[in-house]
Amino acid sequence: MNDSVIKEPATPLSAEKSKAKTNVITEENNDAYTTVGQAFSEKAKMSMRDVDVFYGEKQAIYDVNLDIGTNEVVAMIGPSGCGKSTFLRCLNRMNDTIDTCKVTGKFLLEDQDINDKKMDVVPLRARVGMVFQKPNPFPKSIYDNVAYGARIHGLADRKSDLDDIVETSLQKAGLWNEVKDRLQQPGTSLSGGQQQRLCIARTIAVSPEVILMDEPCSALDPIATARIEELIDELSQNYTIAIVTHSMQQAARVSHRTAYFHLGKLIEVNETEKVFTNPDHDLTEAYITGRFG
Ligand code: ADP
Repeated sequence: MNDSVIKEPATPLSAEKSKAKTNVITEENNDAYTTVGQAFSEKAKMSMRDVDVFYGEKQAIYDVNLDIGTNEVVAMIGPSGCGKSTFLRCLNRMNDTIDTCKVTGKFLLEDQDINDKKMDVVPLRARVGMVFQKPNPFPKSIYDNVAYGARIHGLADRKSDLDDIVETSLQKAGLWNEVKDRLQQPGTSLSGGQQQRLCIARTIAVSPEVILMDEPCSALDPIATARIEELIDELSQNYTIAIVTHSMQQAARVSHRTAYFHLGKLIEVNETEKVFTNPDHDLTEAYITGRFG
């Protein structure tokens, strides 16, 4: 592993920071706190350190340190507006598209700094793909939706190679049997749940290493949601997944570790079962027991 991979928080905890372990965020310690639990991984696929994010003058993320382990599913939960999506979007530089947004800190994909000037965001976003809240198929056929990225990235020289990529991606997304006889129909002709699986197939088609999911089931009915949740479990055999969800049940069902955000701060990260049965932090407990959120 490259020397630049930091295994511990870059800044040792100062006395003032440790004071914030008191489980209460007050005006005095608002900027001086530390995350409790297991934020780091022995097999980190992505390592984030000292992350601050601002929209103009307003700070949305405060000093977040987190690893996402290889083939791990990490769920990000917390009240609306606590910064989950903002943090997720940093992981493939989607925030670059927002003019007022300023991101600082270190983001490593294995040993590569994703904010390095030499890092081209197009291949980065193939390596770290994203699935959005609302299924957003292109106004193209089912086949062309999946083939799109493979064509752009020059992954297939021959039509038969492209056919293979489309079929394999649709199979991995659990959609092949439902669409194999109608590949030339528009992607938008599918149901909401099928469209979301089509978007997952489109993401998979460019061989990502990490898949980011931003509330991928919030527009879906319970049956389509259950299908996507099964799929997340299958995909974690081959991919590293970070998922933002407002559903604690979903986080409990699909993730290995859960990260609890509150007011832009990463309060606690632990094994998912622990977070939901015996959390380390009072704020996590207050959230999972429904005292706020
Ligand atoms: P969550 O995903 O937890 O609901 P967000 O990351 O969407 O939270 O938002 C975190 C904070 O950043 C909120 O205060 C929100 O209003 C603000 N924010 C999010 N996106 C933008 C934006 N494009 N411009 C300005 N402020 C934003």
